[in-house]
Amino acid sequence: MLTLPNWTGPLDATEQARMIVWRRHLHAEPELSFHEADTAAYVEQTLGELGIGPVYRLGGHGRVAWLGGGSGPAVMLRADMDALPIQEQSGLPFASRRPGAMHACGHDTHTAVLLAVAARLKAHEAALARRVVLCFQPAEEVGQGAAAMIADGLLDGTYAPGAPAVDRALGLHVWSRDRTGHIVATPGAFMGTVDDFTVRVHGRGGHGALPHEARDAIVAAAAIVLALQTVASRRVDPLDPVVVTVGAMHGGSAFNIIAEEVTLRGTVRSYSDQVGAASPGLVREVAEATALAHGCTAEVDYQRHAVALHNDAETAAWVREAAAGAHGVTGIDGTFRLLAGEDFAWYLRRVPGCFFFVGCGGPDGPSEPHHSPRFRVDEAALPVAAEVMLRSAARCLAT
Ligand SMILES: [Zn+2]
Ligand SMILES: [Zn+2]
Repeated sequence: MLTLPNWTGPLDATEQARMIVWRRHLHAEPELSFHEADTAAYVEQTLGELGIGPVYRLGGHGRVAWLGGGSGPAVMLRADMDALPIQEQSGLPFASRRPGAMHACGHDTHTAVLLAVAARLKAHEAALARRVVLCFQPAEEVGQGAAAMIADGLLDGTYAPGAPAVDRALGLHVWSRDRTGHIVATPGAFMGTVDDFTVRVHGRGGHGALPHEARDAIVAAAAIVLALQTVASRRVDPLDPVVVTVGAMHGGSAFNIIAEEVTLRGTVRSYSDQVGAASPGLVREVAEATALAHGCTAEVDYQRHAVALHNDAETAAWVREAAAGAHGVTGIDGTFRLLAGEDFAWYLRRVPGCFFFVGCGGPDGPSEPHHSPRFRVDEAALPVAAEVMLRSAARCLAT
C-alpha cells in the first residue's frame, strides 16, 4: 500500500469551486497557439494571488514558476494553454466569446487543474522535500510550444539564477473517449509522431479532350494518394503501427481543363524511432516516383512537429499506483495507446516521466471527440485529475 503525505488528499468544495471558476473563465476566452497572451496573463495573475512567484516567461507566452524546498533538481508538472481554430457549438453557458477559437481539446481544464495543484502545493510548501516546477506551456496544438520552452532553458534551469533543472516530468490530458474516473498511464510508446507533409504535383495543363498533349496532375495526385497507403501496408513492419492520411487535395479549375498543379497535404503517425526516421524518405520516394510514372514531377516538404511519446515505465507505474487511491477513480489502464500526437514527447526525450489520460466523457462515456465543435468536458473529471496529479507528484518527489 502506497503511503503518501496528507497534502495529497482530495480537493475540498472550496478548492473545487475555485478551479471551476478558473476553468470556465479560460474556456470562455480561448486563444490560438502562440497567441496565448491573455491566458498567460491570467495564469501569471492567479499564481501571484496564490503567492507563487516570481513567474518567468519562456517559449513565447509560456509561464514558469517553482516552489518547494532544497536546492536539487525538480519534478516538473506541465499544463498546455492553447485553443483551436474552431467555432464552438457546445451550447455551454460559458462557451467561447472569441469567434473562431475554442477550447476543443480541454487545455483550459489542464491549466485550471495545474493552478489548483499549485495552490495546494503552495499551502504545504514547507512539507515539500524537493522543488516542483510549474510549467504552463503555449502552442501544443501546433507541436511547437514544448520545444520553444526547452530552447529557453526550461529543463536545464538556465532561464533564471537558481532555477532548478528538471529530472522528471508529469503531464496529463483529459480524454473524452473514456468515461470519467478512468485513468490511463501506459508505459513505453503511448502516442504517435506528428509529421506534416505537403506534396506539390506539377504537370502540364491542357484541353480536357486532348489528354495526350498535357500531363494530368490530378491523375498523378490521385495515384499518389493511393500509393501512399502502401507505405503503411507494404513498406513498414506490420507489427509496427503507422498511419498515413492525406487530409487535403487541391487542384484544377474547370471541367474541361487538365490541371497543371495539385497540392496534397497529409500526416504520418507512428510510434517507433525506426519508422519515424524512415517516414520522410518513404513519402518522398512514393510521391516523386509515382508522379514520374504519370509524366509529372512532385516536390515534397516534410515537417516533424512531434516525436513519438514514450512514457518511462517506472513513472507510469507510479502514476497508476497513485491513481489507485484517488477519490473518484473507477478504473486504471496501462495498455491503451493511440497515434494522436502530443508535444510533451519532447520533454520525455530529455527526462523520464509520464503523460497520462484522465477520462472526461461522463459516467457513461465516451462523449464527443476532441477537436469537435461540440466537444465537452465532464467537470467531475477535474478534481480527479488534480488529485491524481498531486498524488503522482508526491510519489515522484519521494525519490
Ligand atoms: Zn488537441
Ligand atoms: Zn490536447
